[in-house]
Amino acid sequence: MPGLSEKQLQGFDQRLKKRRDELREIIRDELASTQREDYTELAGMVHDVGDESFAELLRGVNLTNRARELEEMQDIEAAIERIKNGAYGTCVECNDAIAIERLDAYPTAKRCITCQSRHENRRGGRDATPSL
Ligand SMILES: [Zn+2]
Repeated sequence: MPGLSEKQLQGFDQRLKKRRDELREIIRDELASTQREDYTELAGMVHDVGDESFAELLRGVNLTNRARELEEMQDIEAAIERIKNGAYGTCVECNDAIAIERLDAYPTAKRCITCQSRHENRRGGRDATPSL
């Protein structure tokens, strides 16, 4: 059972959306400063598209300098989606509630701490370093 109250969910929702807006600005600036016509056009569209299609819009855009931001953005979109459909705060692997302290530190967390460390161990040394 998810142990989050409506109020807590709203709090996370607000935090995630605030961070998403920040990332949106960073990505928009990056697009605008990229000297390519199609990117400039994308930058202009960023504020016009709906929340869901923003990630869609950026799919396939090769912003190597902003890969980290794009990845975080996708995590945030996914977390907001989970809030909407009631899955937020529940581990995707074992269906246990994710500790509120963990969510507080990582609002995009989709695994409980147990499954997360298992997940990281499974990836082993080969993938331990970030691919950036
Ligand atoms: Zn779990």
